[in-house]
Amino acid sequence: MSHGKNRRQKPAPLLNFDPDPAVANGPEAKEFRARTGETLRIVPLGGLGEIGKNTMAICYGEDIMLVDAGLAFPSEEMLGVDLVLPDLTFLAQQQSRLRGLAVTHGHEDHIGGIPFLLKEVTLPVIYGPALAIGLLEKKLDESGLSERTKLTQVKPRQRVRMGCFEVEFIRCTHSIADSFSLIIRTPIGVIVHTGDFKFDFTPVDGEHFDIAGLAAACEEGVLALLSDSTNTEREGYTPSERSVWTKLNEAFIQAKGRIIITTFASNVNRVKQVLRAAMNHNRKVTILGRSMLTFAAIARDLGYMQYPDNLLVQVENINQLPPDQVVILTTGSQGEPMSALTRIANDEHRKLKVEAGDTVIISATPIPGNERSVANTINALCIRGAKVIYGRDAGVHVSGHACREEQKLMLNLCKPKYFIPVHGEYRMLVGHGRLAVECGVDPDNVFIMENGDVLELTAEKGKMAGTVQSGVLLVDYNRDFMIDEEIVEERQKLAGDGLVALAVSVDKNGKLLSGPDVSLRGVILPRGLPAEEFVIRLTDEAKKIIAQAEPHDLVSAETVKDLLFEKLTDYFQDQLRSNPLLQVVAMRASLAPADNGANGGGNERERSDRKSVHKKG
Ligand SMILES: [Zn+2]
Repeated sequence: MSHGKNRRQKPAPLLNFDPDPAVANGPEAKEFRARTGETLRIVPLGGLGEIGKNTMAICYGEDIMLVDAGLAFPSEEMLGVDLVLPDLTFLAQQQSRLRGLAVTHGHEDHIGGIPFLLKEVTLPVIYGPALAIGLLEKKLDESGLSERTKLTQVKPRQRVRMGCFEVEFIRCTHSIADSFSLIIRTPIGVIVHTGDFKFDFTPVDGEHFDIAGLAAACEEGVLALLSDSTNTEREGYTPSERSVWTKLNEAFIQAKGRIIITTFASNVNRVKQVLRAAMNHNRKVTILGRSMLTFAAIARDLGYMQYPDNLLVQVENINQLPPDQVVILTTGSQGEPMSALTRIANDEHRKLKVEAGDTVIISATPIPGNERSVANTINALCIRGAKVIYGRDAGVHVSGHACREEQKLMLNLCKPKYFIPVHGEYRMLVGHGRLAVECGVDPDNVFIMENGDVLELTAEKGKMAGTVQSGVLLVDYNRDFMIDEEIVEERQKLAGDGLVALAVSVDKNGKLLSGPDVSLRGVILPRGLPAEEFVIRLTDEAKKIIAQAEPHDLVSAETVKDLLFEKLTDYFQDQLRSNPLLQVVAMRASLAPADNGANGGGNERERSDRKSVHKKG
């Protein structure tokens, strides 16, 4: 198997996609065009080596098409970060070649990045299933970006053209309604991109995986298969969504009081089953949480679910009903701190309290990284006396992704020349790659890629051919601020080792005019050392550093600051064995002592506003 840039000894070269403008009409450019004219390039910008922010470019000659543009949610150590996006620089650079985007389905890790992408580029067209396009319409309306593309719904087996690419949408089954796998016909052969899939032979919405359609396309011969790797560590088959019904129904039969149930808002078919169970058991439903309300409204408008108006009641009226006639359907399946379920569990919800006799059903599993938050929510619910039904064995949730036997079926249907496992952490990609070899793919034709890698394919051979700019953008909640990765590191330091602030002012000869003024926040001191004593020692140390400084270290406020920063960092390591965030405010005054109140905030603010792109490789 061929691995991407991180597996190599030397960093991969940054690939020059464009002929030098200076020679755009010269022989080099001609040679470049001839070369790109027969080479297909696959460039993942997100979704490889991770679950999230799936974004992929497929390039041939002068044309680039995209498959999905998603976002990811931050890991717990990304303090204060709300969303994570792929670095979109490469796509911005290639604006003139972008022919459009094909959306596989409406999950946030596949469409959530589109509004951000449209701030950087315009796209001639976005094709996708009706549900995803419905969600996108709302997103683009809200962010005033509707003019920057043309949203177009597609039907199963519909074929559309984007530059030299023809894309056919094949119905597949997944945990959100209206999902597609893609058949991408390129000048050198057929690419199958599975999208997120499982083979659900008894789908609750009756929309079966169009295996015949897929197989017919595969008869043309598949040059490359890009397949979902999420569950490659799980043997067998993923159970059908329908299997959830039995367990859900049992829980409804046994519940004597209220039922509080949480699932992914996007899992329209699951929500549909909850509503059906409520109707069957003569219960009314209150829906809580913005995303749950949005999804329910759009899914109903588009005809993905039907229910009578009188099934729903407002949360204000729920307490007037007997407990055994109530279902509360809520967000919070991932233990998100601000979600309704988390607030109910922590007794912080204004309108609802959880009580003994309530049954809480967690109809979801934690996305990797959320295990702790989910466990905390379950603990809090149990403390308040609720019966909580959760976990894989409870049968109230099934995955939306294919297990190994289904992945094998996909490989056998497609029989690809080249195989590129996608949608998974690195070990999953490797595991899926091995599975492909077991299924008969030549090991030399299996490519384990990472975000930013460029894979070049011809009909004869494939090779990893360098990288493009890639990495992450960190987004603050109001979605207009990009967070510098340095800021996240500072927050981690603050959380781990606290803050030391030190202010000092010196004259042009290096004589101390005022300070050092020191304050400590959250700094852990050696046992038996009072804070006052440490502050005195630190003040003395800072005085000593200035007194012993070389004249060139005192020429400006900046050099004084750098000097203190360097020496005191060592001092903390020596005295505290820790590395608190150190903020030094230094002033060099020639007149009276300046106000040295610790207002280094200007510096902070400058940094917060800076949009930063973290370059990898
Ligand atoms: Zn998905």
